[in-house]
Amino acid sequence: MSDHHRPHQMDENPAGIDLPLEPLPGHSSRGRLERVLRRGEFAVTTELNPPDSADPEDVYNRARVFDGWVDAINAVDASGANCHMSSVGICALLTRMGYAPVMQIACRDKNRIAIQGDVLGGAAMGVANILCLTGDGVQAGDQPGAKPVFDLDSMSLLETIRIMRDNGKFLSGRKLTTPPKLFLGAAINPFAPPYDFRPIHLGKKIAAGAQFLQSQYCFDVPMLRSFMDKARDLGFTDQAFILVGVGPLASAKTAKWIRSNVPGIHIPDAVIKRLEGAQDQKKEGKRLCIDIINEVKEIPGISGIHVMAYRQEEYVAEIVDESGVLKGRRPWKREARGDDQMVAERLEHLLHDNVTETQVDLVKSAH
Ligand SMILES: Cc1cc2nc3c(=O)[nH]c(=O)nc-3n(C[C@H](O)[C@H](O)[C@H](O)COP(=O)(O)OP(=O)(O)OC[C@H]3O[C@@H](n4cnc5c(N)ncnc54)[C@H](O)[C@@H]3O)c2cc1C
Repeated sequence: MSDHHRPHQMDENPAGIDLPLEPLPGHSSRGRLERVLRRGEFAVTTELNPPDSADPEDVYNRARVFDGWVDAINAVDASGANCHMSSVGICALLTRMGYAPVMQIACRDKNRIAIQGDVLGGAAMGVANILCLTGDGVQAGDQPGAKPVFDLDSMSLLETIRIMRDNGKFLSGRKLTTPPKLFLGAAINPFAPPYDFRPIHLGKKIAAGAQFLQSQYCFDVPMLRSFMDKARDLGFTDQAFILVGVGPLASAKTAKWIRSNVPGIHIPDAVIKRLEGAQDQKKEGKRLCIDIINEVKEIPGISGIHVMAYRQEEYVAEIVDESGVLKGRRPWKREARGDDQMVAERLEHLLHDNVTETQVDLVKSAH
């Protein structure tokens, strides 16, 4: 987005200074992701595999592996319609530590009343980015009998949050005292038919309010190129930032399973053959991901990558490093703080010693 390019400047949030900062002129959020993208730098986002656990350390441990390598961490919202720790819960934990999350909202499980409340709650916690999704259908998950809501869809969700942010109102028209400052995103899938409709669909999401788009996994670069050619011709790459989904495949067997069981993911035969022919398939999957990134980063109109390394999160740093996409830039890294030890001890005590303390006891014992 050439009109938004800014001279290189230090990442906001130098060590020790946490969100929120005031938005820069022309920015709609206080977030690092928007700043990096509007500076014209190649952005890197990733997603956190949500734990099936009530222990906050499970989230912190999963986030730590990305330290210094990504500009934002997506907190998924029951993807595949399988229940895990909520996106709102993960965002609460991540913002507490200074991380920049992308709060994902799927319209499958909540109506407009609950969603608008979560938008305000998220923004109040320091969430600067929201990814608006219709969401996978309940039949995709392990509780197919769950009641699907779909009061809104990705488009009407984008419009809803845009109204909240820009007009300072709920959908009902009731005024907000303080509107949320948010950078709005949506998902795109250039790799699923009908291919000709995909760039149009992108345009519809931009018209509804999407400022950034994160795509489904790319394993077919020629297909992405043809999508991007159309998106550029239609002027969409000047109107929003496109981050391409990439990820390492653990083996040919996994690739085949994903291809037959996960809707919307296209894996060409050549990819499976390359993995089958490798001595170390896991290593080859990582190499393939880096090769794809190296091709993707050269396609005009692409502003970044979204690395989805499900159950291989420890490779994200290596993939980002070896692909060289950051060109020596180091995204925000959490520095240890003086009160970390005290917080860890308090949590340990509360979670494992079966204690019931009043607020007053808590404050007293913390000092
Ligand atoms: C980066 C990323 C993150 C994701 N995270 C989550 C998550 O946290 N939770 C979750 O549940 N799912 C998640 N998904 C999956 C996603 O919800 C599904 O892939 C979904 O089918 C497409 O994205 P959407 O939700 O934005 O749906 P939309 O793009 O809004 O599409 C919704 C519906 O519109 C119709 N439609 C879409 N395209 C066409 C077309 N070309 N022609 C006709 N009709 C069409 C279909 O009925 C479709 O189901 C994610 C996907 C991506 C790429």
